[in-house]
Amino acid sequence: MQELIDFFQTFKFNITTKGHIFVISGFSGVGKGTVIKELLKRNPNMYFSISYTTRAKRYNEIDGVDYHFVDKETFKKMILNDEFLEWAIVNENFYGTPKSITLSKIENNIDVILDIDVKGAIQVKSKLPNLTTLIYIIPPTGKELLNRLYKRNTENLNEIATRITTSLIEINYINAYDYIVVNDDLQKCIDEVEQIFRVQKMSSKVQLLSITASKEAE
Ligand code: 5GP
Repeated sequence: MQELIDFFQTFKFNITTKGHIFVISGFSGVGKGTVIKELLKRNPNMYFSISYTTRAKRYNEIDGVDYHFVDKETFKKMILNDEFLEWAIVNENFYGTPKSITLSKIENNIDVILDIDVKGAIQVKSKLPNLTTLIYIIPPTGKELLNRLYKRNTENLNEIATRITTSLIEINYINAYDYIVVNDDLQKCIDEVEQIFRVQKMSSKVQLLSITASKEAE
């Protein structure tokens, strides 16, 4: 009996974690960009993955900061070289998440945020199910979403119509997400996403427990 007690006294419980992937998706214009910027300010250790895209650069975007802007030929070569963790065609353009940098961040216990669409989200979840959490941000109403799209003034009417069509298709996939958050009040939305980060990092799927026994009692 005493021997067992002495042995147990030497146990040390260690938890090791890998970095986690938080996918944040949402309708175009829902405010994902603002939510992500604020989350990165609050969590400077998190890494935002910069996607590759064949879409034309907007006047307010910087190459290498918002996206890596490449032509279709380059993008297709990258697909063939297996350089993407996932890729998809969204609103008639190619978009993809670079693989090696994302995986190296995870290995180094750095959490990664991906701003990608539903097709990409489902690919990442199926490749790294225990290390991926899918969060979908929805607007309170369709009218509010349209107001935000008109206000940001970066798309013409045709492009807005394409984005609405994409949103209508995406609605069918929202249930594949782990969490749905409403962006009605921006601060509340950010707080809720941050809570999800915290809970997911504590999940038993993410935490690896190892037990060591030292000679001396701890
Ligand atoms: P935007 O052109 O407005 O920046 O983005 C359009 C859509 O493409 C958004 O829903 C955004 O989340 C998605 N997107 C951006 N980067 C990627 C990516 O690397 N992969 C996928 N699958 N979607 C992306």
